[in-house]
This record gives sequence, C-alpha cells and structure tokens, in this order.
Amino acid sequence: MIVDLKTGDEEGRALALERYGVLDTPEEPSFENVMDLVQQVMQVPLCGITLVDRDRLWFKSRRGMDMQEMPRKGTMSSAAIEQAEPFIVEDSHKDPRFCNNHTVIGDPHVRSYVGAPLRSPEGYNVGTLCVMDTISRTFPASHITILQNFAKVVMNELELRQVASSDHLTGTLSRRAWTERAELEIERSRRYKRPVSLAILDIDKFKLVNDTFGHSAGDLVIQGIADLCKKMIRKSDFCGRLGGEEFAIMMPETELNDAFTVTERIRATFENVLIDIGAKRPVSCTVSVGVAQRDTTEMDLAPFLNRADQALYQAKTTGRNRVESTAA
Ligand code: GH3
Ligand code: MG
Ligand code: MG
Repeated sequence: MIVDLKTGDEEGRALALERYGVLDTPEEPSFENVMDLVQQVMQVPLCGITLVDRDRLWFKSRRGMDMQEMPRKGTMSSAAIEQAEPFIVEDSHKDPRFCNNHTVIGDPHVRSYVGAPLRSPEGYNVGTLCVMDTISRTFPASHITILQNFAKVVMNELELRQVASSDHLTGTLSRRAWTERAELEIERSRRYKRPVSLAILDIDKFKLVNDTFGHSAGDLVIQGIADLCKKMIRKSDFCGRLGGEEFAIMMPETELNDAFTVTERIRATFENVLIDIGAKRPVSCTVSVGVAQRDTTEMDLAPFLNRADQALYQAKTTGRNRVESTAA
C-alpha cells in the first residue's frame, strides 16, 4: 500500500528515521551494492544514500565524497524530502536557493542534483537516494525512474534490517541488534568522555509462571515488562531482549544515580501491573535489576555488562524485586 507523504511533522519524521536504527552504523553490503548499481547506470561522480537527520545529512553509503555527514541546513536533500516526487536541480549556480549553500561553494561542489525521496511505509521521507555532478546537466526521464526504483530497494533493505533487528515476541531490539548499538554507544562515551549507564532486568521466579500457567501466559508476562520498559525510558535510551525473560537498557548521557531512579520506577510500577493471561485472575510479577555506569577504564561492552550482571546477582540474592547498583 502506498501511503501519502506526511509533511509538516518534522518530529515524527525524525523519530521514524531513528526507529530504523541505521544512523551511525557501519557499511553494509546491500547498500553498497545499490550504490554501485546507481553509479554505473547513471554515470555520475557523486551519489549517496542520504539520511536526513534533525540537523545533519548522514550517508549510509556514498561515492565520490569523503565526509560521512554534513550540516543539513539549506541542502538539496533537505529540500528534496519536502516533496513526493524526485527533486531536480540542473544548475545550482543559477538557483538562488542553493547557489550559496556549503555543498555548492565548498565540497563536494554540487552543480547538478537528482534526489529520489526515501519514503517509509508510514509516509515519512527519511532521506534521499541522490546522484550529483560537478557540472551542470540534465538527467533523462528513464534514469530518474530507475533512481526512484532503487529508492524503493533501499527502503526495502531498511525495512528488512529493522525486522531482523527486533525481537519477535516483544518488539524490543534483538540481542544482536542491542549489542551492536550498545557497542557504538560505548565508543561514543569513550570518544566524547560522556557518561553512559546500563541496566539488566530479569523477571523474578519466572519459571513458576510458566510451570503454573503455561508458556503462553509466560510470554504475556515477558511482553508486559517489555512494554513497560519501552514506555518508561527516554527516546535516547534503548532496550533489548538479551534472552528468555532478561532485558537490557542502555542509557546514554546518564549517570548511575539517574539510571537507578529510572529503573527503580520501572521496578515499582511493574510490581503493581496486573497481566491478563486469560485465566480467572490476572497475574503479577516482579523484576530484579542490576545497574552500572560505564567506568572510564572499560573499553568495550563485556566488562561493563559483567558489572551490571553482578549487581543483578546481588539483587537476586538479597531478596529479589530490588534494584542494585555497582560503583565503578
Ligand atoms: P530468578 O528469580 O532467579 O530469575 O528465577 P527464574 O525462575 O526467573 O529464573 P530461570 O532463569 O531459572 O527461569 C527462566 C525461565 O524462562 C526458564 C525458561 O524456560 C523460561 N523461558 C525462556 N524463554 C522463554 C520464552 O520465550 N517464553 C516463556 N514463556 N518462557 C521462557
Ligand atoms: Mg528470572
Ligand atoms: Mg533469567
């Protein structure tokens, strides 16, 4: 089904892009292949799978450009996402909207441009598949149609990537996807010397739920805690299912005390949630939580995760339905 373009909802658009979890990720062959094909067919020195973030253009793939990202303001891709049809500039030097833009007067010296919007199934343009040249030129209609078709291929890839990265039961990130994002976050925390905290949550005596009410009831309880986590964390935090009835939440820009407060709130809320399992009476469960803040000596995920796990063990051995933290 083709949904009309949603315009005028920049926040919704930015969040739709964020949900793909693709910003700041490494190169992937499927996108590189599309880029190669586009460049071969259209014979252009410059092209990109350009994702339009709040204030920047970030390239999932690119040819002929060194920079991985650039300021969004006044760029052709930023204008291109405002419309449903491909956006075409034949000579930027003669176009008052762009003749003074940093991409025209500086690198990569864009003179001509075609951008096919990358439209999500919800109707948001999250970026463009664009080709550019450093000379003024026109592009044949057949090439523009090809570019639009490749834009659909890129969107399909983004959708598939998202399906593969989410846990089928809860819709949180899968273990693999969460770990990938967590590693990027640790890298960011190291580079910019920013705090980051981590919580591991594990449902208490969950085996008892399965044994008493059956596996499907257990699944509903797992969904219950996942829904609560998703609802109660900030947009920049991300939650993943590490396995069975165990979840992890990464909280960028968050010190230990605040991470403790957030997870304590989740714990206290979950305790009072009644989960309808289709039986006479709903069930309620509790969670134990281990929290840690990244220590500056921790260079990757494993030792950091380990400390949160030790805190979780503490919470389990000191009575359950508790949040425990480890100091660095
Ligand atoms: P504790 O308080 O120490 O955490 O006790 P527990 O019973 O929660 O711990 P344990 O790790 O022994 O039990 C986890 C159970 O979760 C065992 C496993 O059969 C069950 N499980 C794992 N994956 C799923 C799932 O996808 N759905 C359901 N319903 N159960 C699952
Ligand atoms: Mg458990
Ligand atoms: Mg467990």
